[in-house]
Amino acid sequence: MSSFLAEQDFAIPHLVVDLDRVEENYRALDKALPQADIFYAVKANPHEQVIKRLASLGSCFDTASLNEIDLCLNLGISPDRVSFGNTIKKVRDITAAYKKGIRLYAFDSDEELGKLAEHAPGSDVFCRVLVNCDGAEWPLSKKFGCSTEMAYGLIVKAKEAGLNPVGFSFHVGSQQTNLDQWDSALSQVEKLFNDLARVGIKLTLVNMGGGFPAHYTTDIPDAQAYGQAITKAMDGHFGNNKLRMIVEPGRYIVGDAGVIEAEVVLVSRKEDKDKKRWVYLDIGLFSGLAECIGEAIRYPISVPGKEHSTETGPVVLAGPSCDSLDILYQNTAYMMPLDLKAGDKVLLHSTGAYTTTYSSVGFNGFPPLACVCI
Ligand SMILES: *Cc1c(COP(=O)(O)O)cnc(C)c1O
Repeated sequence: MSSFLAEQDFAIPHLVVDLDRVEENYRALDKALPQADIFYAVKANPHEQVIKRLASLGSCFDTASLNEIDLCLNLGISPDRVSFGNTIKKVRDITAAYKKGIRLYAFDSDEELGKLAEHAPGSDVFCRVLVNCDGAEWPLSKKFGCSTEMAYGLIVKAKEAGLNPVGFSFHVGSQQTNLDQWDSALSQVEKLFNDLARVGIKLTLVNMGGGFPAHYTTDIPDAQAYGQAITKAMDGHFGNNKLRMIVEPGRYIVGDAGVIEAEVVLVSRKEDKDKKRWVYLDIGLFSGLAECIGEAIRYPISVPGKEHSTETGPVVLAGPSCDSLDILYQNTAYMMPLDLKAGDKVLLHSTGAYTTTYSSVGFNGFPPLACVCI
């Protein structure tokens, strides 16, 4: 990676993804959770070469739109390795996905269930339940999933409507570092399994979503620790009842594998005596760094050749656009070399996930984030 970057002179910000690192991350999770099927969450980084590499390793894919489905199918991935995991789908997209052979769908509401029953008849469906996302740096708590009481009723109804309800899904929030969250989510799911078994509905699938973290500026447990916590929780709640397990990692697989090379456009102060400098980069909230909103995700940042510089001072980091929202970090204490100047290159590490896909097509005429795989 570093030798590749040293040879480049990018005119615009580039994300460089190390495919071997993607593979390493995939293998580590597969080893930590050998009993689970891995459905890579395509939205984290849909670059064709990332998808191809993961497909060659046996990964399945979680998609949220027809474009993501087509991306996978056009690469020769068979439809039985693709799930339509978005709980919010247009009828025309369900119809098209069904035609293309997709047979595994998520839902979390009565209306969505009706759409699936009519336009994806007989398909395997799972219901997403609301779970606690405390401990996640990028929580997904309120938008998706329904209460367990509602989930019970929806599964009964799915069966009556000619669908094949297979189980439940949840997502404990992205960049989740509290290993206990899977256990508490699984206790909700266990209760549902038991209640439904009593009325003759036997379920077979638990989809535990994503949430596995990437390395940013704080320490995180490794894949092995997640594997152990989840395996222990599954054994505790389901014992010998061997269920199909799905995990949908996104951030974990590609986050660490990517580095963005950006450039300093301007270093300035608001007043002569200010200690804090403003460092404006050629990348911002609208060109790929949307997860800096609220300073939720804090990427490690380095200046090539000056990684060990002791002559540093505090900075506010901001993007290049003419929107005052476009500030990356002002409360997080980032330190940068005192001799930093316009034209210097800056590396944003662990940026392989949720960057290219969040980049606007051209706000203020700035180009979208480019991506190369090595
Ligand atoms: C985004 C998403 C994921 C991936 O989440 P990560 O935290 O990146 O692992 C998995 N499943 C679903 C349904 C998602 O929407």
